[in-house]
Amino acid sequence: MIDSYRHKGLRKKLVETVQNKGIKNPKILEAIGKVPRHYFMDSGFIEFAYRDQAFPIGAGQTISQPYTVAFQTELLQVTIHDKILEIGTGSGYQCAILLELGAKVYTIERQRELYLKSRTLLNKIGYNPYFFYGDGYKGLAGQAPFDKILITAGAPEIPKDLLKQLKIGGRMVVPTGGSGGQVMTTVDRISEKDYKENEHGYFAFVPMLKGKQ
Ligand code: SAH
Repeated sequence: MIDSYRHKGLRKKLVETVQNKGIKNPKILEAIGKVPRHYFMDSGFIEFAYRDQAFPIGAGQTISQPYTVAFQTELLQVTIHDKILEIGTGSGYQCAILLELGAKVYTIERQRELYLKSRTLLNKIGYNPYFFYGDGYKGLAGQAPFDKILITAGAPEIPKDLLKQLKIGGRMVVPTGGSGGQVMTTVDRISEKDYKENEHGYFAFVPMLKGKQ
């Protein structure tokens, strides 16, 4: 795997693009400038790795658009040592960004092919989250509670089991809605019983599906 000067140059431009679209957090911009997105792409699309677009990664799934990754990460308000649950490992790119911010990441993927592929890749390039093959709707009750929960697939509704796995004072970021598009939603857990929701604009994600494959 080669990370050339050309790749680094393209990455710098990608950082500027994402910044021009409104991402301000310098640590997130730094992480985008650091993680070699071309490592996470399918061979047929490597030359497009530094375009601000989503691309197919196999199993009918996509690597999210860098701006979307940055936007969700910004909403997550990551602080160092945060314990984060990510639903939808996919290519592993978003996971790498969270690790660059100093978080401890637990990531779940329901597609066996992608779970195996991203686990191999991330470990090879030095990223070590905790990997799980399973249904993200159930979360990880045994490892809960989490400071933050990030869902990277479109959820028809906010998964109830996951709300319970959020720390009081913690935040979930979840695109909610069906196949026509989703509203980026933050859910803050205020107390044992109270949650506060806010909306942050429209996005398009692959659907969050039940069970595993
Ligand atoms: N974070 C990924 C985005 C991948 S797209 C990246 O940076 O590349 C969303 C991913 O969510 C897909 O890989 C899809 O298989 C997965 N997914 C969908 N429903 C899921 C569920 N219930 N549990 C776990 N993963 C799920």
